[in-house]
Amino acid sequence: MQKKIKRILLKLSGEALSGKKDYGLDPEALSLMARCVKDACDHGAQVGVVIGGGNILRGAGSSVAADRVSADTMGMLATVINALALKDALDRIGIDARVLTALEMPKVAETMTKAHAVEHLNAGRVVIFGGGTGNPFFTTDTNAALRALEIEADLLIKATKVDGVYDKDPVKHKDAVFLSDIDYNEALSKNLGIMDATAIALCRENNLPIRVINIKVPGNVAKLVRGENIGSVVRRRN
Ligand code: UDP
Repeated sequence: MQKKIKRILLKLSGEALSGKKDYGLDPEALSLMARCVKDACDHGAQVGVVIGGGNILRGAGSSVAADRVSADTMGMLATVINALALKDALDRIGIDARVLTALEMPKVAETMTKAHAVEHLNAGRVVIFGGGTGNPFFTTDTNAALRALEIEADLLIKATKVDGVYDKDPVKHKDAVFLSDIDYNEALSKNLGIMDATAIALCRENNLPIRVINIKVPGNVAKLVRGENIGSVVRRRN
């Protein structure tokens, strides 16, 4: 049993919102993600969420723009669309949520500042961080680590579609070995694909633990909030 978690930062990939489709937003997937967030709130946690944009546009790998900065900017805008969609899904189930974005667009969302974010969290509102870090050449994983540190979250939760971290892709390899407790350096040196290296390095430098869980299993986020030991943890082991 680990200690009860008061404030979490949940990182959802864009893919988590597209459900069974390869692309776009799926109402069922959105409502599933919203229920996970509600569950964590119902268990007393303050919840920040960072969503990716890969279901709409993966900037750096996109063939839409030749210029990396333009492509990444499109990717960041895609995360704002996802953030608004999740806010809408949360509104529908009675959860007050605000979108804060690093890219200034006051008619669409509040501009991200630590003070705003913490004020909302302390008032019991869910904060969804859109617009990535506001800078190209970064990822939403790095943004998740950054926002988790800014809001002083107890835990960064990386939502995936498998039960945690494996030594190789468990979907492709039947002999993949489950790794329950991993040191930051091991995650980096073995390139385990948990989050990108910048995100893991940021967590390592600030001693912020990362939990990797299967988001498709109902109740998993709430279990973490209650202090249960599920999924895999990436942390300082020595
Ligand atoms: N992006 C960026 N800066 C950031 C965050 C995201 O430029 O701080 C861009 C980048 O092009 C990335 C895209 O937005 O490919 C979508 O984010 P990501 O690939 O991290 O989404 P996910 O894979 O989690 O759906």
